[in-house]
Amino acid sequence: MAFSNEQLERYSRHIILKEVGAKGQKKLLNAKVLIIGAGGLGAPCAMYLAAAGVGTIGIADADEVDLSNLQRQIIHSTDDLGKAKVQSAKETMNHLNPDVNVITYRTFVTSENIMDLIKDYDFIIDGTDNFPAKFLINDACVMAKKPFCHAGIIRFKGQLMTYVPGEGPCYRCVFKNPPPKDAVPTCKQAGVIGAMGGVIGSLQAMEAIKYILGQGKLLTGSLLTYDALDMEFRKIKLPKNTCNCPVCGDHPTITKLIDYEQAECEGI
Ligand SMILES: [Zn+2]
Repeated sequence: MAFSNEQLERYSRHIILKEVGAKGQKKLLNAKVLIIGAGGLGAPCAMYLAAAGVGTIGIADADEVDLSNLQRQIIHSTDDLGKAKVQSAKETMNHLNPDVNVITYRTFVTSENIMDLIKDYDFIIDGTDNFPAKFLINDACVMAKKPFCHAGIIRFKGQLMTYVPGEGPCYRCVFKNPPPKDAVPTCKQAGVIGAMGGVIGSLQAMEAIKYILGQGKLLTGSLLTYDALDMEFRKIKLPKNTCNCPVCGDHPTITKLIDYEQAECEGI
């Protein structure tokens, strides 16, 4: 596949990088990334992946754009109120970069459909806002041997980590089980600074891009935390030993997907 003149110009700042080059840009154009949740994390992540020329981007979310979303979900605008989020996201991504094939899934991601959704993708982004969804995505990705980037944000704090099969711990290795329902407040209850989605969602895009290019070190085996009030990033090394994990360990006890309460994947 040769680049068009327009592509050479559009991606010139990538192509000039030795870590990308024409070869890397082609890898991006041939890559397929699925974003689960078209919210505060999914919005900036989707826009940077589209701008980067990731050739196929799937986006899954069942919601419509609501006025209270616009403080952080910058892929949607005031004109999109009431529109399906996946449709609004697709329009913004294609305005930004018509090269990108955006595939929309207007659905809650559940134990019933997740294996089918992730199977054609190279990398998955967890942009959801609740623990049952995060565990569902983790377990499905471990079972399907798909790499994914987890992230979570609340108030002025955020975190992310990347799972690559065989390369380090999964989300369940670290967080074990979802906390009891209502034990941890949601962003709706506790609030979140909109720019937090921008910081952490952009880092998720960066992880996907590095994975596709095969460049740099991913957040496998470590958890990055960000405290915006203290302006502090911390990279916490995670235990290497994953053999006792009930899903990714040597003798898994979780062998089918669990439907925790409210296991519906919505964008944060
Ligand atoms: Zn594990």
